[in-house]
Amino acid sequence: MINWSTLTSAQQVDALARPAMADSAKLRATVADILAEVLTRGDEAVLEFTRRFDSPELTSLKLSIEKRDELAARVTPEVQDAIQTAFANVKQFHEAQYPQDIRLTTTPGVVCEQRFTALEAVGLYIPGGSAPLPSTVMMLGVPAMVAGCERKVLCTPPNAGQEIAPEIAFAAKCCGIGEIYLCGGAQAIAAMAFGTDTITKVDKIFGPGNSFVTEAKQQVSQRADGAAIDMPAGPSEVLVLADESADADFVASDLLSQAEHGPDSQAILVTNSAELIEAVEAAVAKQLAQLSRNSIASKAMENARYILTSSVNEAIAVSNQYAPEHLIVQCDNSRGLLPLIKHAGSIFLGPWSPESAGDYASGTNHVLPTYGYARNYSSLGLLDFMRRYTIQELSEDGMRNLGPAIMQLADAEGLDAHRNAVGYRLDKLNKQND
Ligand code: NAD
Repeated sequence: MINWSTLTSAQQVDALARPAMADSAKLRATVADILAEVLTRGDEAVLEFTRRFDSPELTSLKLSIEKRDELAARVTPEVQDAIQTAFANVKQFHEAQYPQDIRLTTTPGVVCEQRFTALEAVGLYIPGGSAPLPSTVMMLGVPAMVAGCERKVLCTPPNAGQEIAPEIAFAAKCCGIGEIYLCGGAQAIAAMAFGTDTITKVDKIFGPGNSFVTEAKQQVSQRADGAAIDMPAGPSEVLVLADESADADFVASDLLSQAEHGPDSQAILVTNSAELIEAVEAAVAKQLAQLSRNSIASKAMENARYILTSSVNEAIAVSNQYAPEHLIVQCDNSRGLLPLIKHAGSIFLGPWSPESAGDYASGTNHVLPTYGYARNYSSLGLLDFMRRYTIQELSEDGMRNLGPAIMQLADAEGLDAHRNAVGYRLDKLNKQND
């Protein structure tokens, strides 16, 4: 138990420190080599790396629609129903985010517009690993579908049997994703960013992944011939902000649901109640023993922190300083505290709103800024799959009304051609009037 008010400022910063990110020179060099190989040898390199890391017998990178549908049909009816329930909620919530165009006359005769359009081609990375992630397919695929992106490209590492999890295939089918490629890691990111004979280049790449994926996304986003990316990523994290009214079993299960993601996951409880901390520690020990991913969760819980504050307001200040990816508020008046909360990727209010709801099915997006980026990045949403652009149209009157001010500003900046572009037009209008 960390007693917050007894710490110096430096100790408080230490108490909220995140685990060091894998950012070694070796990782950077490994990924740079993979990107270079894909750039020069295209499909051949992607296939070679995929055989080395994921599926030794793989012969083709493309998963056909027929194969997608055959895999999707293997999903049990119960799981199909659950995926469809989540799909409907995520779709509703992202449809509601559709932005309004703007059309405004700023000066008589001067019309300015702002419009939104879908990105043409998006790359969706779905991590491989032990657990299939249909939820991530939906969190990326639904906004891409609602935005109206023309091409939705999904890359995911195949298993040794040259297949992907049926749940991923089913979720992809729900989202209308037909372009599925069997590759993962840095080679998949490179293929989507630069393009190969089989995988045509995309404009922006979305999705979580391990350190190779994250590093590859960073590297391609810095190159003119690469692609944009959704956001920087670090290990997942939760901060539970609770008072004496919280249910210790609920709080423990929320901390553990974060911890089971991975050994580097962060789980933090901040509360003004020492009794709650004691009860949560006991509940964690009891629940942890029963988890199937006990060893992963145990490792993450070694880094869990239980912070005792002198008041709920001080607990909120701690949360604001940490800027958690997920913030669960289990206080007497959780909604009433909202105005005081400044930085959090996604907020879960009250005892009946576990992180699991947002991870899977409530409708909000589960791709969120980690590692303190909640200070300056937003949770993933429809607008990330769109771009905005502007239009302007000046009538003759608009030119007469605004032209003189433009000429003054061009003069002040010493840009003669800019001034002339208005001057010639005003001259013509003046001649027409004569
Ligand atoms: P992954 O798909 O991220 O990575 C697999 C790829 O890693 C392989 O295809 C291979 O190309 C590459 N790789 C493995 N070893 C390599 C090596 N030695 N050299 C070069 N490349 C290598 O799947 P994963 O590894 O199981 O990791 C899943 C990750 O996704 C985890 O880190 C997990 O935390 C993260 N994740 C995050 C979220 C989220 O929403 N925040 C959700 C799910 C998973």
